[in-house]
Amino acid sequence: MLSFFYTMEGMEKDMSRHDILIIGGGPSGLSTALHLAKIAPHLAPRILILEKEHYPRLKLCAGGLVTDAEIILQRLGLDTGEVPHVDAREIRFDFAGKGLTVRMPKSHSIRVIRRDEFDHWLAQKVQDRGMEIRQGVSVKRIIPEADGVTVETDQGNFHATLVVGADGSNGITRRCIFPHDSVYTARVLEVLTPIPTSLKSNETKRSREGIAFFDFFPVPNNIAGYVWDFPTQVKGTPMRCWGVYDTNLLADQKRPALKEPLAEEMQRHGFDLNDHEIKGHPIRWFSPENKMSVPRVLLVGDAVGADAIFGEGISMALGYGAVAAKEIAESFQRGEFSFRGYKRRVMRSGLGQTLFARWVITQVIYTFKWRWFQTLLWRILKPIVLLVAWIFVLNWGKRL
Ligand SMILES: Cc1cc2nc3c(=O)[nH]c(=O)nc-3n(C[C@H](O)[C@H](O)[C@H](O)COP(=O)(O)OP(=O)(O)OC[C@H]3O[C@@H](n4cnc5c(N)ncnc54)[C@H](O)[C@@H]3O)c2cc1C
Repeated sequence: MLSFFYTMEGMEKDMSRHDILIIGGGPSGLSTALHLAKIAPHLAPRILILEKEHYPRLKLCAGGLVTDAEIILQRLGLDTGEVPHVDAREIRFDFAGKGLTVRMPKSHSIRVIRRDEFDHWLAQKVQDRGMEIRQGVSVKRIIPEADGVTVETDQGNFHATLVVGADGSNGITRRCIFPHDSVYTARVLEVLTPIPTSLKSNETKRSREGIAFFDFFPVPNNIAGYVWDFPTQVKGTPMRCWGVYDTNLLADQKRPALKEPLAEEMQRHGFDLNDHEIKGHPIRWFSPENKMSVPRVLLVGDAVGADAIFGEGISMALGYGAVAAKEIAESFQRGEFSFRGYKRRVMRSGLGQTLFARWVITQVIYTFKWRWFQTLLWRILKPIVLLVAWIFVLNWGKRL
């Protein structure tokens, strides 16, 4: 009798079967589920999302949502206006304090959300549409087999027809299916500060209100990236979010510590970096070499790669979800799960086109690191830069 119960318990632990297991409940995993529910509603009850944290969970991110993210969500019937946010009316791309300004006609240029709130909101939309998210389940290993995939977790094993790896830049899915793949990651640091109260900082407050700043001044010092300063809010209190992004493209050259340019920029505006908590997290960026799938397992979001220029990945994650959902829906129609055509599908989509263009631009703007080139690019060639950005960087969401 006792051994019968042990066997039953063991079976229960080991026999959780699902058609579609999504590993990770960030924007890429949630977008995959929402797009599947839209284009193949019969598959929605057959989806299970495993998320290792509990919502609302922290995710280090500046939370800048570009228009393409809003377009993708609008097409799913979702309005980001429901999430607490701050809208920046313009974006400045500077080199050492001077450069070009981007404004969207009749709209904000960038919407800034906090990821604990945004991801929680998106997860609720997924649940409202009848899909299950199991929170607090950490995936430990993915084993693709001929007839399915075994997913080992801290709460027992799951078996699936197919798995979507949506577990971010350090995700276990990619590490299991491509253990020896080369990885291109950026180093990123982030700091939140209150809105200034001192006299010097008050000038900062007035001149920077409602504007999101990117400054590429660290590039000649071999930090292949930029320093940012966004308006944001935390639990309704207006704040600024600062950070520094380095693609690591100039990692073979002598570089200052990553926090130095951030401290320099903050000091220019009356802040001492040492007074604030610094947090860091890598971002895996897209390179055309990056692999995207093996039979029965495909990757989305940062697990494949975010935009290389800025490390912008929320809109990309939402876009990967749309492309992956199409691939999965067609695989079920065919009854064949090799995902042989998935990378081609991504690369031909608006998402793949912008990711590729941004990868090419990254190789130019960060490896031509000289001061004169950066000045030329951000201050003199403004119309050309804006045109290239309009054609190759923005507006891809409509072409998905
Ligand atoms: C400092 C910083 C600032 C950024 N700023 C911006 C910005 O302003 N705008 C922008 O567009 N992008 C920004 N990004 C990038 C953006 O955060 C990512 O591109 C985006 O979060 C990718 O979404 P994702 O769903 O692929 O992965 P994630 O958002 O990382 O989600 C992965 C999910 O998987 C879960 N998970 C991980 N491992 C497991 C496991 N083993 N088992 C179960 N669940 C697991 C995690 O808990 C998480 O919920 C920033 C990134 C950083 C680090």
